[in-house]
Amino acid sequence: MHNITEIGMEYDVLRENANIAHMNHHFLEDHNIRSVDVMGSIGSGKTSLIIKMAEKLAVKGIRTGAIAGDVTGDDDYKRMRNAGISVVNCNTGHECHLDANMVKRSLKKIDIHSIDVLFIENVGNLVCPADFPLGADLRAVVISTTEGDDMVRKHPDIFLHSDIAVLNKTDIAEYVDVDVNVIKNDYSKLTGGAREMMECSVRHDKGVNELIAAMKLW
Ligand code: MG
Ligand code: ZN
Repeated sequence: MHNITEIGMEYDVLRENANIAHMNHHFLEDHNIRSVDVMGSIGSGKTSLIIKMAEKLAVKGIRTGAIAGDVTGDDDYKRMRNAGISVVNCNTGHECHLDANMVKRSLKKIDIHSIDVLFIENVGNLVCPADFPLGADLRAVVISTTEGDDMVRKHPDIFLHSDIAVLNKTDIAEYVDVDVNVIKNDYSKLTGGAREMMECSVRHDKGVNELIAAMKLW
């Protein structure tokens, strides 16, 4: 969690973050890279989804890069690297979210000319990533049916700060006693009917093509 106690200081931190995010966005745009900030809780399936999308993009000759954001460790980094993604590991140390400056530093370590799409996997957290735009073209939030059917009601901010919301693991909804329609209705209500939550099952390769299309990655 944040140790920011003074409103003024928080304002400065967020303004500085917004400036750097702006620079990241221009940098990625200048290199013709389509970028997605992938947010979501721990275990929602962010890494698996990124790998699945990268495999599908590779078939069409579209090259994927990634920044693996985690508090510590290199598990996601290794999974993505083993899947052939040009990935950089980005450990935040104590922070529970990525910020634009971490992304800026990670971008310097990526062979920017060898990728067409960049996924930035944020730290597993549904709270503060919402406040820290990174400069990506799109912000996506991934939740899974295993988290219960009250996720939208509990974390409205992150859904309001995202362009795309994904409900993963729909194949096991009935086993965890979750009604997919409750989650989807909450989301639809929250966005004033402007957006529909997308469903997918990475494991069964359902809804992933639709997601890639919605993100305009191919
Ligand atoms: Mg992960
Ligand atoms: Zn945080």
